[in-house]
Amino acid sequence: MSLKGLSLVIPVYNEEPVIPELDKRLKSFFETCPLDYEVVFVNDGSADRSLELLKNISAQNSHYKVLALSRNVGHQNAITAGMDHAQGDAVVVIDADLQDPPEVILEMIRKWQEGFDIVYAIRSEREGESIFKKITASLFYRLMQKLVGIKMPLDAGDFRLMSRRAIVVLSSLRESNRFIRGLVAWTGFRSTAVYYKREKRFAGSTKYPLRKMIKFAFDGVTNFSTIPLRVATWLGLFSGLVALTAAGWAVYEKFFGEGVVQGWTTIMLAVALGASAQLLMIGIWGNTLAGFLRK
Ligand code: UDP
Ligand code: MG
Repeated sequence: MSLKGLSLVIPVYNEEPVIPELDKRLKSFFETCPLDYEVVFVNDGSADRSLELLKNISAQNSHYKVLALSRNVGHQNAITAGMDHAQGDAVVVIDADLQDPPEVILEMIRKWQEGFDIVYAIRSEREGESIFKKITASLFYRLMQKLVGIKMPLDAGDFRLMSRRAIVVLSSLRESNRFIRGLVAWTGFRSTAVYYKREKRFAGSTKYPLRKMIKFAFDGVTNFSTIPLRVATWLGLFSGLVALTAAGWAVYEKFFGEGVVQGWTTIMLAVALGASAQLLMIGIWGNTLAGFLRK
């Protein structure tokens, strides 16, 4: 039976010190929330006692559900699992660390009730994050805006509300290296934004080390932009030209030059032409495939 109300999806990875406070904040939030609700906690293979704590708080609150993933599958996949299980008419994804204040959800609900399918929460300020994170995040969102063909809001993370029909479409997209904020924008539903101040993480440290951030950015670019493929095409063309020039030179050297080592001309020709043909073909195939996938 589907829930006529709100589902919160909360991914949790090693958030032991945050969970009691999260429970408190959620309780006081739901006192003001006009809708029936459920909370889907997704334990993303935590190595600490997060799962045990989640089970404890859920035993005392029939609105809470815990989805325990067998291993750490990463933030984007954890959110996907949660969205698949959420049953509400409106689904809100929110981090466990209280950087995204639950109170903002009330404003999101109002926008949803006005008829919007997607309500982004845009960070007007970020507190307690390193200068490095702020600069890289700001650069990343601006670069993405330039690179991708779809309109993605700047400075919006995964804290957002989605209507049931947006969730249905999103759940039908099963790419494996997911960049959910891109997929959400791709669905094309009517969307709007609310603004909020991103708080400091309540406790513990970020679960997004540089390595994960780079993978995330890479997925974003390769999922939604053909520019890297076009770069391959142009590189292939350019190195093809260089190869042809080099080939001409190698042949000239063989017949009119001082005399070259036996086999050098053939190797030069094979390496130069082979490499450029490969780059060019990768670019062309990639672009063609990307064109098919977009349809
Ligand atoms: N998270 C997760 N799996 C991971 C990494 C993070 O479920 O592999 C969760 C984490 O518990 C938090 C949310 O995703 O609720 C965002 O992570 P974090 O706050 O560490 O990222 P940041 O806010 O520093 O970008
Ligand atoms: Mg955080």
